[in-house]
Amino acid sequence: MHIGIVGQGLAGTLMAFRLMQEGLRISVIDPGGENSSTIASGLINPVTGRKYVKSWQADRLLEIADRVYPAMEELLNISCYFHRPLFRMLHDHQQAELWMQRAILPGYEAYLSPDVEFWKAENSGLRRSTEVGKVYEARWLDTEKLLNTFRQYLLDTDRLFPVAWKPQDTIIGDLHIQWKDNLFDYLLFAEGSGIVNNPYFNWLPIQPSKGERLLINCPSSLDQTMKASYFIIPYRAANTYWIGSPTDFNATDDQPSPRGKQLLEEHINHWLSDSYTILDHAAAFRPASRDRRPIIGFHPGHPRLGVLNGLGTKGVSIAPYIADLMVGHIKNQYPLPGEVDINRFTYPYETKSR
Ligand SMILES: Cc1cc2nc3c(=O)[nH]c(=O)nc-3n(C[C@H](O)[C@H](O)[C@H](O)COP(=O)(O)OP(=O)(O)OC[C@H]3O[C@@H](n4cnc5c(N)ncnc54)[C@H](O)[C@@H]3O)c2cc1C
Repeated sequence: MHIGIVGQGLAGTLMAFRLMQEGLRISVIDPGGENSSTIASGLINPVTGRKYVKSWQADRLLEIADRVYPAMEELLNISCYFHRPLFRMLHDHQQAELWMQRAILPGYEAYLSPDVEFWKAENSGLRRSTEVGKVYEARWLDTEKLLNTFRQYLLDTDRLFPVAWKPQDTIIGDLHIQWKDNLFDYLLFAEGSGIVNNPYFNWLPIQPSKGERLLINCPSSLDQTMKASYFIIPYRAANTYWIGSPTDFNATDDQPSPRGKQLLEEHINHWLSDSYTILDHAAAFRPASRDRRPIIGFHPGHPRLGVLNGLGTKGVSIAPYIADLMVGHIKNQYPLPGEVDINRFTYPYETKSR
């Protein structure tokens, strides 16, 4: 079986890797360049929101990520997946109370520290003292390193077409999909926010949300990942930090904006330092679905065209999970869970005429 995959962000990369693990032949089509996945902070944060609630499928997603990313590290001979705690700023007594109440609930013991820590400005590397709660089970994936190394691996093994997929190059047959000179049994689309240009899947309710991040060099001793309004994450080299990310559902372009920069600089000034150098400022659209669940499965009128999208703000943890589900669906015809299945959305056209 030969499977084509359009898009080499987290969704396409994890799909390609899992299919290869199963011994299937794959080809990936992607022109390359920055995408939402390469600029992401790369966190798996299983407890989110103002109420510190476990995120959707947190236990299962973590278990699969802990299996798949180390296997990719082994294949590529790199280190890019790390267990790291994450610290949530608790701004007042109420937040600290809520944290401690949540931490002792069943199912939360492994995730949240029951106690609140007090970080003094003098020895935390921050500009001001604060109370923090610790999330034990967080992870950091160096997405850029993983994706770039995997891309090189695909190139070296003749599995990558470094071009954009265009509908006019594709002929849909009953037995296979022809794209240029290649025949695929299935063609899977993992285009992130690029799905809006795909005539087969642009009816799906994907709402791109723009995110922005700064990479800075800053002489601070902060060596922990922390979240206040935004994240401050120690990056690869000493004194280098990833700062992000504001969310904008109304943005009309994916370019770094003065407003995004201003918000992030205010954050840096408040928490970290007023003396730093900006190394890079980047922005991208996250592909969020209307119901905030991923969307996977096959086209209602073209059973050889598949989709993996809607990873939203959680692509690092969701990508290995949906790739697993699609592998089981393609190889063993396992049904897809209803909450992620494309069939939960009504196809707005006649299927017979397409
Ligand atoms: C600033 C920021 C911070 C984030 N932080 C986190 C985080 O900490 N943790 C987390 O889990 N998630 C985070 N996210 C979200 C995460 O990045 C996304 O969920 C994820 O990247 C989506 O992956 P994707 O593969 O669906 O899309 P993308 O990463 O956008 O990849 C889509 C790929 O498809 C390709 N493509 C599109 N159209 C075509 C075409 N016609 N032909 C060929 N190729 C095509 C593109 O070139 C691209 O490579 C963050 C996002 C942003 C922007």
